[in-house]
Amino acid sequence: MKLETIAIHAGTQITDSYRPAVQPITLATTFEHHEDSVIYSRAANPNRIALENVLAKLEHGQAAAAFSSGNAAGMSVFQALPPSSHLVAPDDMYHGLRHLLTTVFKGILEVDFVDMTQSENVAKAINTKTALIWVETPSNPLLKISDIRAICTIAQEKQIPVVCDNTFATPVFQNPLLLGASIVMHSTTKYLGGHSDILGGALITKEENELWDKIKLVQTTGGAVPSPFDCYMLSRSIKTLPYRMKGHAEHAGIIATFLQNHPQVEKVYYPGLLDHPGHTIAATQMTGFGGMLSFLVKGGANEADTVISKLQYFTNATSLGGVESLIERRAASEGPDSKTPQNLIRVSVGLEHLDDLLEDLDQALKQ
Ligand SMILES: *Cc1c(COP(=O)(O)O)cnc(C)c1O
Repeated sequence: MKLETIAIHAGTQITDSYRPAVQPITLATTFEHHEDSVIYSRAANPNRIALENVLAKLEHGQAAAAFSSGNAAGMSVFQALPPSSHLVAPDDMYHGLRHLLTTVFKGILEVDFVDMTQSENVAKAINTKTALIWVETPSNPLLKISDIRAICTIAQEKQIPVVCDNTFATPVFQNPLLLGASIVMHSTTKYLGGHSDILGGALITKEENELWDKIKLVQTTGGAVPSPFDCYMLSRSIKTLPYRMKGHAEHAGIIATFLQNHPQVEKVYYPGLLDHPGHTIAATQMTGFGGMLSFLVKGGANEADTVISKLQYFTNATSLGGVESLIERRAASEGPDSKTPQNLIRVSVGLEHLDDLLEDLDQALKQ
């Protein structure tokens, strides 16, 4: 099966004798004991089984686990590690996960945040207690590119698992398990959900090994699982993912070039641009450059806020990956400990007509 076919068919499992064309939502929390049955919906339920099936197939993994948020997925990996483990994580890690590591896991796990655009920084940070390498590429919000193959080669020598946050690329454009990663993580709240109305997360494993068993234990006993309704919504959204991603990437590429040529713009971060420092690596590990970009407005926070306030079709809101275009001054959302430049605007390019989006940006950037 090809990607588009997997997306439409692998998330549907019909057991109903009426043979509905789409899988019904099974709200039951408990199931009559019989052979092959699920027992209790925290451990498994039909909609989650179907969702996990399509997620595993999209990422070429053996198994998947769905969670109630992207952060819950990340947390389950951290909880599966032995206490006092050491982690190597990217300096531009998604702010919420970085915050989780530096607060909730403070004193429990030890973390080194390194610039992973240079793979040798990962090698240098590894010590005898390193139990995990966390990669995020393209990164949020600076669109930094890390070389997944090179980092996985370093990790394999020391038998350290690599988890890759693939939220920005999606399985449509990048499959980290095929590049050597052990586990892929997604915030399904973003492109997989695609309509800014589902909170969710997922992990997909290359092998059902000891680490995976521990993660499944955290998932089913910790219970940070999505509801049957959320699983249904996600399986439904995933059916259009390949086509949505083509549109997001096409729009983002053209908007990135438009911004780069605009006199009010200081710098554009988009891995599809030839002068992006990670472009060459991105081109070898991605089949498209995604729908996210960031740019620096000439001036500071005020100038950036003014541009955002003039836009009509881009909603000033956090999050990303929906059909509607979203925009935000990222440092304002990340709070006082943010290292993101004050004049950086992050754009989640939506699926409105490209001409409308370009016209809107053009009028908002006029002084
Ligand atoms: C949003 C996001 C997360 C966290 O996911 P939630 O669903 O908000 O918990 C993790 N990584 C990246 C790259 C994200 O954009």
